[in-house]
Amino acid sequence: STQIHLATRPTGVPTPENFATVRTELPALAAGDVRVQNAFISVDPYMRGRMSAAKSYAEPYTVGEVMTGAAVGHVVESRTPDLPEGTVVLHEMGWRDISQGQASAFRRVDPPSDDIPLSLYLGLLGMPGLTAYVGLTRIADLHEGETVFVSGAAGAVGTAVGQFARLLGARKVFGSAGGPEKCELILQKYGFDEAIDYKKEPIRDQVNRVIGDDGLNVYFDNVGGDHLEAALDVLAPFGRVAMCGAIGQYNATKPQPGPRNMANILQQKLRIQGFIVSDHAREAHAEFQRVVGQWLAEDQLVYDETIIEGIENSADAFLGMLRGENTGKMVVKI
Ligand code: NDP
Repeated sequence: STQIHLATRPTGVPTPENFATVRTELPALAAGDVRVQNAFISVDPYMRGRMSAAKSYAEPYTVGEVMTGAAVGHVVESRTPDLPEGTVVLHEMGWRDISQGQASAFRRVDPPSDDIPLSLYLGLLGMPGLTAYVGLTRIADLHEGETVFVSGAAGAVGTAVGQFARLLGARKVFGSAGGPEKCELILQKYGFDEAIDYKKEPIRDQVNRVIGDDGLNVYFDNVGGDHLEAALDVLAPFGRVAMCGAIGQYNATKPQPGPRNMANILQQKLRIQGFIVSDHAREAHAEFQRVVGQWLAEDQLVYDETIIEGIENSADAFLGMLRGENTGKMVVKI
């Protein structure tokens, strides 16, 4: 089987040299084991954090070991009646073509129809979708008739946030993304009311101009830094910020200064809350599956995926995602 390992830890922006492709012989299955042929593996921003040694909410990767993370595939060999051959499973064994181990390390998924690509369990129906749902309903406490701004709006989490916000009754949805194509896409395909291209002009000027008069009730932050500062300018009294990510800073080599307008938090009585989706999975996952599954069945949701083929191109997919080469969820097809 082929696996991708962390070869060295990056300083600043990661490069292909930080990864190694390793071929291994897999042992025969033990009692209770399954072997899974992965269909898709996920590359996600949080993996950048895990490549560094610094302690964060997710354990650092070990140099010389597999880049673990979410993947979905089919059981191709089984030594347990719990997960017979052909079962579709999700797991966290990451960047490899074949995964095997005890059945308890795999979670069965039951796609409601053949129309649903398995890759959706890494995106809209998976961790990024749940992140959008939890952020809006549990953290930002979005109410009907409110306005929402999401940064990273053309990505996996962002495209879900924009659509869920609308379906949950938001009055206006604003998004920011890099470049005119992504901005056009979120307006035309995802129904955003306004799109801000942060690469065109300083984000703070644009946010003040585009959102200022409406007043902002909820900011869903995927980028941090200058984007958070921009949102703090326009948040209305009792506005909320769901701090989901700060991808604008993940490659920084030293701590970045905070927003210069922190006084607005007091003046506008804002609430800013960070969250990690895994803390909410137990409580929110069943509701997420029901509500979002229903929306999907009713054709109320759309999605994009950027699919890179071949396990050996996993690092390229990951590095491309950090550079913004994805629209919607970036996945690797095995
Ligand atoms: P995306 O699909 O959004 O991919 C990452 C995107 O980030 C790129 O496409 C790029 O889009 C954008 N980006 C990269 N560098 C910058 C920059 N310097 N400034 C602004 N945008 C940048 O990834 P996800 O949807 O998976 O994740 C989005 C965010 O959500 C991340 O911050 C991630 O860490 C966070 N997250 C947090 C979770 C939690 O539990 N708290 C769970 C899941 C995700 P563009 O072309 O627009 O620049």
